[in-house]
Amino acid sequence: MPFSDGARSGHHPGVRSAYEHVVRRNPDEPEFQQAVLEVLDSLSPALSRHSEYADQRILERLCEPERQVIFRVPWRDDQGNVHVNRGFRVEFNSALGPYKGGLRFHPSVNLGVIKFLGFEQIFKNALTGMSIGGGKGGSDFDPKGRSDNEIERFCQSFMTELHRHLGEHTDVPAGDIGVGGREIGYLFGQYRRLANRWEAGVITGKGLEWGGSRVRTEATGYGNVLFTQRMLERSGRSLDGRRVVVSGSGNVAIYSVEKAQQLGATVVACSDSGGYVVDEKGIDLDLLKQIKEVERARISEYAERRGDARYVEGGNVWDVPCDVALPSATQNELDAASARTLVRNGVLAVAEGANMPTTPEAVQVLREAGVLFAPGKAANAGGVATSVLEMRQNARRTSWSFEHAEAELAEVMTGIHDRCEEAAERYGAPGDYVLGANVAGFERVAGAMLAQGLI
Ligand code: NAP
Repeated sequence: MPFSDGARSGHHPGVRSAYEHVVRRNPDEPEFQQAVLEVLDSLSPALSRHSEYADQRILERLCEPERQVIFRVPWRDDQGNVHVNRGFRVEFNSALGPYKGGLRFHPSVNLGVIKFLGFEQIFKNALTGMSIGGGKGGSDFDPKGRSDNEIERFCQSFMTELHRHLGEHTDVPAGDIGVGGREIGYLFGQYRRLANRWEAGVITGKGLEWGGSRVRTEATGYGNVLFTQRMLERSGRSLDGRRVVVSGSGNVAIYSVEKAQQLGATVVACSDSGGYVVDEKGIDLDLLKQIKEVERARISEYAERRGDARYVEGGNVWDVPCDVALPSATQNELDAASARTLVRNGVLAVAEGANMPTTPEAVQVLREAGVLFAPGKAANAGGVATSVLEMRQNARRTSWSFEHAEAELAEVMTGIHDRCEEAAERYGAPGDYVLGANVAGFERVAGAMLAQGLI
C-alpha cells in the first residue's frame, strides 16, 4: 500500500522506515497496515518539527501493541454440538490511561482486524482529552441466527478467559459490532461471578439499572452528527434541511438517524449487509428500532411494512443521492467508485460513524473534490467518551439525567472538533480533519510516552 503523494511536505524518513517495519513484521494484516499508513501519512510535519519523536523510536513503539492475548472460546449450541471460536484482546497503548476499547463479535474478526481497531483507538481516545489508553478485542463468533441461550453461553465462555486481563485500572472493554446491551449484560455477569466483586468500572455500556449511563447507547451516532454539524457550521452551512444517507442499521446508524432528524435533516436511506432501503419521506425511526433493536430482523422488513419505501437487495447505498453521507457499518464499505458517485451527486460532507469505512482511495477522491471529510477517530469518539462518563458516574456512585449526559457529550465533541481544527491550522492545512485528528491524537500520546521513559 503506497503513501499518498505527500504534497504537504514530503515524507520524513522516520515515517517511511516505521511503515516498512510494520509491513515486514505484520505481513498478513492488510487492515492493520492500512490503519497505520493512514496515521503515519499525516505525521511527517510533526516529526520534522520534533526530532525527539524519531530519536526515541516513538512510531515503532506506537505500532507494536504492549500486549496481545489470543484464547480459545469453547461453547455448546442448543443442539448440544460443541464449537470452538477464537478470542482476542489487544492491549495497545496505556500511556494515557487504562486500555479502553470495544469487543467485536463477527466472523470477519482476526488478529489484524483487532489490531487495526486497537491502533485507531489509541488516537481516538487521546483526542477526547480524557485519561484512557487504547485497546480492542473480540471473536470470530457469528451471533447472527443464534438463540439467546447460545449468546449467553458464548459470552460466559469468552469472559471466563478474558476476566483475568481486565480491571477498572487495567483494561475496560465495551461493545462494538455484534456486542450490544444484551451481550454486555452476560459478560458483566460472568465477570462479577468470577471476580466476586461489584466492579462497575470494569466494562461500559451497562444497563441503566446496574451502572450504565444515559446516552451511552446513543453516544456514537449522536456524537458523529454533532461533529458533522459543527464541521458544516465552520464552513457557513448547517444540517437543517439536508438529505442524509446512513449506511448500516445497527447501534451507530440508528442513533445517527435520530440525531440527524432532530437537527432538521431528512434521512432517506440506510442498510444492512443484505441491501438498503430508500424512504424519500424520511426513515420512520420507530419502525427501524422495532425491526433492528427488538426483532433483530433484516432491513428488507422495513420496506415490507412501510408502503412508500423500497428495498434494493445487494445494492450499494452510496448510489442514493445525498448532501451528507454517514458511513456507519464497517471497514472499507465506501470505495473510490462510491466516492465518485457521491461527488457526482453533490455530497457536501462525509463523516465516519464506523471505523475506517472509507478506503484510502475514496478519501483521496473526496478530498480532491473539496468534500468536508471527518475521520472516524474524531467523529465517532462520542461512544468511548461517554463510556468514560459512565466510569465517572460509577466512581462517584451517581447517575446523571439524559440532559446532563447529552450536554457533556456535546461539549466533548466540540472539544474534539476544535482540537482537530487547531492542529490542522498549526501545521498549515486548515480544514484538513484527517491531518488534524492524526497529529492532535499523536502529539498527546507521544508526549506521554516521552515523559514516561523507554517502556
Ligand atoms: P452493530 O450494532 O453490530 O451494527 C453493525 C451494522 O453494520 C449492521 O447494520 C450490520 O448489518 C452492518 N454490517 C456489519 N458488517 C457488515 C459488512 N461486512 N457488510 C455490510 N454491512 C455490515 O455495530 P455498531 O456498534 O453500530 O458498529 C458499527 C461501526 O461503528 C463499526 O465500525 C464499529 O467499530 C464502529 N463504532 C462503534 C461504536 C459503538 O459505540 N458501538 C463506537 C465507535 C465506532 P448486518 O446486521 O446485516 O450484519
